[in-house]
Formats: sequence, structure tokens, C-alpha cells
Amino acid sequence: MAKKIVILGAGESGAGSAVLAQKQGFEVFVSDKGQIKDTYRKILEDNSISWEEGNHNESIILSADEIIKSPGIPENAPVIMRIKEKGIPVISEIEFAGRYSKGVKICITGSNGKTTVTNLIYHILKKAGKKVAMTGNVGNSFAMAVADGSYDYYVIELSSFQLDGMYEFKADIAILLNITPDHLDRYDHKLQNYVDSKFRVIQNQKKDDFLIYWAGDPIISAELSHRKTEMTLLPFSDEVKEGMAAYIENNELILDYPNKINLMTIHEFALKGRHNTYNSMAAAIAGKILNIRKEVIRESLADFQGVEHRLEPVITVCGVNFINDSKATNVNSTWYALECMENEIIWIVGGVDKGNDYSELYMLVKKKVKAIVCLGKDNKKIIEAFKDKIDTIVETSSMEEAVRSSYYLAKKGETVLLSPACASFDLFKNYEDRGRQFKQAVRNL
Ligand code: ADP
Repeated sequence: MAKKIVILGAGESGAGSAVLAQKQGFEVFVSDKGQIKDTYRKILEDNSISWEEGNHNESIILSADEIIKSPGIPENAPVIMRIKEKGIPVISEIEFAGRYSKGVKICITGSNGKTTVTNLIYHILKKAGKKVAMTGNVGNSFAMAVADGSYDYYVIELSSFQLDGMYEFKADIAILLNITPDHLDRYDHKLQNYVDSKFRVIQNQKKDDFLIYWAGDPIISAELSHRKTEMTLLPFSDEVKEGMAAYIENNELILDYPNKINLMTIHEFALKGRHNTYNSMAAAIAGKILNIRKEVIRESLADFQGVEHRLEPVITVCGVNFINDSKATNVNSTWYALECMENEIIWIVGGVDKGNDYSELYMLVKKKVKAIVCLGKDNKKIIEAFKDKIDTIVETSSMEEAVRSSYYLAKKGETVLLSPACASFDLFKNYEDRGRQFKQAVRNL
């Protein structure tokens, strides 16, 4: 009898898992407690997959041999507790699809920069003419790409929630960009739990595999120093040269694995700022491991178009430059945004605070920020943090108002930067909605 697979959550990953499971000959049932989006319902119907919505039918769910859970469903949801009591294995879409994928898996994780590096590596492999799919947390299901069956390479962005449901999966190339406290509410407020989650990206790796990581990250270095690893370690740094697979010397990016080459100057990178130098280095090492010609890597890093909402230039209005960094939902990413700005800044900040420590930004704010425009339902913490440092702090309660106030405060040659350091749910649907409203309001000026 066919093994029975139940899929909880019919979003992007659930629909992809269902199609792959069906293709592999399993008996498949999909259950979603909410409404299933039309696009995913159509996929299920076109593939004759049984499904339910608005409910979890426990008698069907608890008869499964294995459950694939969407990363959005919390571990302590009642249905998950019941499944665990019964001892039914619960895995993620990535774990499941990993069993059937034949191509090379390049897996990217970290607290910040995942989407950028995932897109960069995809861009390199595409330009090199490879059959490559970009999948995972970027928004396309890995399982669907595996079901499609036509790819030789999978570039997979992994969030810590996806990593949590992975056990036997093995990355051929793992990339760990950085670890700064984030989402700690999901990890019992223990940093080590979050670190362990991120390090799952290297589990099961053997000596033919690779780990690319930022050597300047103290948490990653400390964790690696007490782990026994077999894979080839490929660290990168803009400060140290010794032992690095990539480093910067006289403003040039040097790749030193397996042989040494001068790739390009950092001024040629399409993506500006120190954090993007790290991102470009990580992507370049991956390209080198995969034997992509250096001309192709260089060209890709130079003509990359950037990703929406990540330090995205909008337009210049009467000499005032507007930049959309709506994806900066934590202090660390805003730190890098402020750091790479060259002109005086009117800084739009605020939203849902996830336990931010703004003191990390004091130096940069004092040096570069002329005025702060708060955009959130509750701005007390931001005002408290900066009132002794910045003379002009205004509160606004809509994007239109925030953009108009910023424009009013800005002089020719200055920059209005939306880099909120907070989540967006108080006033917006998500960070994309926040970024789009920003761009619209700027265009309406
Ligand atoms: P993620 O997918 O991990 O959330 P993104 O590439 O979407 O990362 O970038 C999120 C935010 O973090 C953006 O505001 C971006 O400017 C900033 N950022 C990008 N790369 C890095 C990095 N290597 N270190 C710190 N911040 C970064």
C-alpha cells in the first residue's frame, strides 16, 4: 500500500510538496486551517490531489505515515502537538524534496543577506548557461522545482524555520552569512537555540562538501571552534587575508580557492556597501567552487540588478535622493544601510519592535542622520533612544505623511532613507506593502 503523506498548509511550499509527493506515488492529503489561495487550489485540483480548508480533519491527519509541515505553522499548534503525541514524523518541504533532488544544492542562510546572495548566485549560474532553479524562502518552492525535474542546480534560501524541519538533508554547498539575534521569540529567547538552528545548514556534510562563511562573525567563529567538521571550510573577510577563500586587498576582491585569482575591484560591484561586499564575496566563492569562469562571475557581480526593497534606489526629486530599504526589519540590517550612505540622511524608522537595542546605532546616527521621521503606531522607544542625539524627531502615522515630512526636512543633495529596523505589521500588510507604498508616495511628490 502506498505510504500516506499529509501536508499541513497549502501555500507555496505545501502545494509544491503535494505535487512532488503525488509524482512519487504517495497517497497525498493537504489540509489548511485557513483559506487556500486560488493559485494553490488550482494546482491541487489540476493534479487531482485531495485537500480541505478551514479545518484540520484529525482522523485523516493522524493516520498519516509522515507529515510535511509548512514553516508558518508553529511547533505548539494543537494539531502538531497531537501529531507528536502519536509519534508521526514531521518534516519540512525542503527535507522531503531533498530526498528526490539529483542536482547540486547550494543552501544559503544567515540573519541578513540571504535573499540577496541567493539571487546573486542564481544570476551567476544563469549567466553561465546552467539549468538552475532559485527556491526556498525567496518564494518559490524547492519541491515544485524538484517535481519539475529539469534542473541541475538548486539555489535554496533557508530561513531558520525551514532549517528546523530538516534532518537528513545535506547541502553540497552551505553558506552561512552572519548570525545576529532575530526571531528569538520562536527560540525560547535563547540565542544558542537560534544558533543551533542556523547551523543545521551544515548537518550531514562530508568531506566533499563546502561551507562558505563570514570569518568576521564572532558567533559563527565561536560555534565552529567547538564543532568537529569534515567539509572544506571557505571563510571570507574584508579585514584578514590569511586562510581566507576570499578577501579584499587594495580594493580588489581576491579569490584564493583552489588557486589565487584577482577577480575585480570592489568599485565594480553592482551592489554597494560593506554588507554587499560580503554578499558578493560569498557568491563569488560559490561560483568558483562550481567552476564558473571568472569572467562570468565578474560580469554577474557587476551587472546584478539588486532585489526590490533592499537599499533600492527609487528616484531623485529636486536633488533629494530616496532609498527604499523596507526589508530592513532588524537593527543589524539598518546598521549596514546607515553605514553605506554617503550623504546626510533623513531616516524613516519604526514599526513593530522585536526587542531592538538601538544603542548599536548611536554612533552612525550621530554621524550621518540629520532628522528622524518615526513611522509606527508606537514610537516611544525610538524617541527615547534618540532624543538626546538628534534635534529633529517627528512622528507620522502613514507612509504618505512620512514621505511628505521627510521631503520637507531634506535639502538638495541629502538622502531620505526608509530603513525601519522594525517589522511592518502595525501599519502595513508586510514589508513589501510598506516598500511599495513608500515608492508610490515618493512618485506622488
Ligand atoms: P534576508 O533574506 O536574510 O532577510 P536580504 O538580502 O533580504 O536578507 O536583506 C535584508 C536586509 O539586510 C536589507 O535591508 C539589506 O540591506 C540588509 N543586508 C543585506 N545583506 C546583509 C549582510 N550581509 N549583513 C547585514 N545586513 C545585510
